[in-house]
Amino acid sequence: MSVLIVGSTALDSIKTPRAENPRLLGGSASHAAVAASFFSPVQLVGVVGGDFPRRYLALYKRRRIDLEALQILPGKTFHWSGEYESNMNHRRTLLTELGVFETFTPTLPKSHQAARYVLLANIAPGLQHHVLDQMQRPKFVAADTMDLWLNIALPELLKLLKRLDAFVLNDSEAHQLTKEENVFAALKKIHKLGPKYVIIKKGSHGSILSGPRGSFICPAYPLRKVVDPTGAGDSFVGGMMGYLATAKGSVEDNIRRAMIYGSVVASFCCEGFGLTRTTKINRSHINQRAKELEKLTRF
Ligand code: AMP
Repeated sequence: MSVLIVGSTALDSIKTPRAENPRLLGGSASHAAVAASFFSPVQLVGVVGGDFPRRYLALYKRRRIDLEALQILPGKTFHWSGEYESNMNHRRTLLTELGVFETFTPTLPKSHQAARYVLLANIAPGLQHHVLDQMQRPKFVAADTMDLWLNIALPELLKLLKRLDAFVLNDSEAHQLTKEENVFAALKKIHKLGPKYVIIKKGSHGSILSGPRGSFICPAYPLRKVVDPTGAGDSFVGGMMGYLATAKGSVEDNIRRAMIYGSVVASFCCEGFGLTRTTKINRSHINQRAKELEKLTRF
């Protein structure tokens, strides 16, 4: 089964203490789509401008990502720029230019409306609703967000939470949303807002799932060197959704293993700028790290 993914399709200019890389292929949907494509077919919903490099379109195609719902419009591609501090945990947004995303209201082709797994990757909640409104009978809908939407579109985001199976957010966003310092207290409060599954990401400390069968602590793969963590969260949720879409059995049976695979893809993402490392790996690299994670956490 394929995963339909909507989110930002962007050009990212990233500064770390060691290097600076302008106009890389980025965006929440790009990272998530590439990650999901290791496990399942992917239908990408997004928009880029006339300035979007052809080699980036070729890169999506090499990952066999369905681009029927990727619009190319006159105008500028969404451009985001961020700068990391020396510990690579803190990042500052330097620039967000919405470009062609400003007025993007896609109409999905019939083939896309039938997708059973839907990932509403980080983008304005209004657009997440708009895409979800067009889905015919999705089986599992997950969404991600960011602090910006908690600040400027909270009512729409709260409405979205009632329509989701799973909500994925990072620890600072969970704190912002619930005012709880304690992550388990935050999980409980977020369940009350709607989603059956809540996953709080904790960067290099992994993530925590809370669901009907209790909690699960998912480790991050222990990396010695992080080159650029941009998109790690999107890779995590993309990998997880791709795995879920093709795994046999119920979501409840598979979600823990799906998180492990998401975590592994996210680790590769951190080893290169933008998508440079993730686009060089294959399924056997992923399986190898998943085995290592299993060894590291078995006792
Ligand atoms: P992450 O590192 O998981 O937080 O995701 C980083 C990605 O989010 C980058 O590739 C950006 O292009 C994208 N991004 C940054 N700001 C926004 C925004 N306001 N809306 C949608 N995507 C964004």
